[in-house]
Amino acid sequence: MSGPGGVLRIVILGGTGEARSFVETALARHGPAIDPITSLAGRTQAPAALPGRVRIGGFGGPAGLAGYLRAEAVDLLVDATHPFARHMPHHAAEAAAESGIPRLRLERAPWRPGIGDRWHSLKSVEAAAECLPDHGRRALVTVGAQEATRFAAIEGAQIYLRAIDAAGLPPERADLRHILARGPFDLEAERALLAQYRIDLLVTKNSGGAATVAKLEAARAVGIPVLMVDRPTPPVPGPRVETVAAALDWLAKRLEERRRDVMN
Ligand code: NAP
Repeated sequence: MSGPGGVLRIVILGGTGEARSFVETALARHGPAIDPITSLAGRTQAPAALPGRVRIGGFGGPAGLAGYLRAEAVDLLVDATHPFARHMPHHAAEAAAESGIPRLRLERAPWRPGIGDRWHSLKSVEAAAECLPDHGRRALVTVGAQEATRFAAIEGAQIYLRAIDAAGLPPERADLRHILARGPFDLEAERALLAQYRIDLLVTKNSGGAATVAKLEAARAVGIPVLMVDRPTPPVPGPRVETVAAALDWLAKRLEERRRDVMN
């Protein structure tokens, strides 16, 4: 094993609540047996504090990531990037294969419509922006800062862009406003938000997960439609789990294997 005294060094490709929860629980359970390094792309201006080590910024493609994994003598790679991250899961798969490091994809399950939901499925954020004025006049848009610029050119509708911070958002004007907030959000607060801004349409990506599902429950409760952007690509092949608990089981097995190796 690479870390000092047989400590298992794990790189977690983060930017998600799952990555955070994985590191927090893994450290609580395994303490000094692991050395987790969370990697962030650096999109959020002031990311919330994380336990363990943190590095920020791209690697320079799959070869850069493979080089980093070797240079840091990394033992395991957990790719917990967002379900809408288009490149990193592929880079992670390639780099792990090249470096001979076990990799796990942690990707939460998508949301599914229930009784009372009025979802319109769309292939891209761009498509959602194009058809927005056909579905509502006052839209709450929660697609992340990176793709929010697509809503800057819409005419004939009042747009509320919700994001963690204003970095990358198109500038505010009378018919385009920012709502800066970091999840998780609860149902009561989401209902209040819809009422406060008299929202008649929700635009979102099918990110899945509990932290931001309340907006969909609120939309269902007040009967407004949802423009739901589908996930971009089929999942990367290879080991994949949908929950933090399953990822922690995978880690526990790797630690058990390590203990057996050390004893033999
Ligand atoms: P992406 O298209 O897969 O990534 C673009 C580039 O950003 C990658 O090629 C990589 O640069 C760098 N990168 C991405 N994730 C990284 C990480 N965890 N650590 C270091 N570098 C990283 O992903 P994206 O959609 O731009 O998202 C960027 C980050 O925001 C991801 O970490 C993701 O988990 C998080 N996020 C994304 C969304 C979303 O809707 N897309 C939502 C919430 C959070 P190099 O090629 O130079 O290594």
